[in-house]
Amino acid sequence: MDCVFCKIVHKELPAQIVYEDNKVMAFKDIHPKAFYHILLVPKEHIESVNSERSEEKIKDLIFAVKHIISKEGISDYKLVFNVGKKAGQTIEHLHMHCLAGTNIQMP
Ligand code: 5GP
Ligand code: ZN
Repeated sequence: MDCVFCKIVHKELPAQIVYEDNKVMAFKDIHPKAFYHILLVPKEHIESVNSERSEEKIKDLIFAVKHIISKEGISDYKLVFNVGKKAGQTIEHLHMHCLAGTNIQMP
């Protein structure tokens, strides 16, 4: 499948990975929109929040982000899902942005 995030999950494309468990991978956004900007993705390919079973995947992403930000010592952060092209979703593999620090711009 020609999916950038699947390629990162399968280590076929390099990324700065900050967290990984059996369900989730988190890595730095290649074009950060804040001092701290990571993306969290389910390892299994699903398209978006609109997809079937996204609820359980989103739960996994929230679990992972809480773990990551507490380890980083971050308390204030923004979580963003873009759903659909018109809302700015450019990669059709469910992902959650986590932004923190100075200069947060909406991704
Ligand atoms: P979207 O606009 O779809 O919600 O967000 C996609 C995000 O993926 C963008 O912020 C973009 O910078 C990031 N991105 C796109 N291609 C790559 C890549 O190859 N590696 C990484 N680490 N991030 C990417
Ligand atoms: Zn994918």
